[in-house]
Amino acid sequence: MKTNFKELRISTTKRRELIDITDEVCATVKESGIEEGICVVYSMHSTSAIIINEPERGLMEDILTKIDDDFPRERDWLHNRIDDNADSHLAGAFLGPSLVIPVKNRSPCLGTWQSVFFLELDGPRSGRRVIIEVLGV
Ligand code: ZN
Repeated sequence: MKTNFKELRISTTKRRELIDITDEVCATVKESGIEEGICVVYSMHSTSAIIINEPERGLMEDILTKIDDDFPRERDWLHNRIDDNADSHLAGAFLGPSLVIPVKNRSPCLGTWQSVFFLELDGPRSGRRVIIEVLGV
């Protein structure tokens, strides 16, 4: 089995923001030389998430609006007593820090309308760390 490990550093400019990392995922799979296996995309932060969806401007805004609706910042969350970002942790916990994408023919198996996003939930931040690891043969 072969592996290829890459760490991305991402800077964000808004509190909540979707950053398209599809090109980096595809490049990491391609340079790995791995024909068939899996690709893990993993964020090393508890106030972020990794998601796959369509890179359409309106939909990307809708996703952020849905997160605001489901995890309201102004509610009296207990974590806000020590750190004013409970809503960001909650969204991160329920959306999850990672995804696994199948790899075939040196490409991630992404559909026509699927892109991979880093989802910032408590920005702006510099130096967000996202790991892309490809494993296979
Ligand atoms: Zn916190």
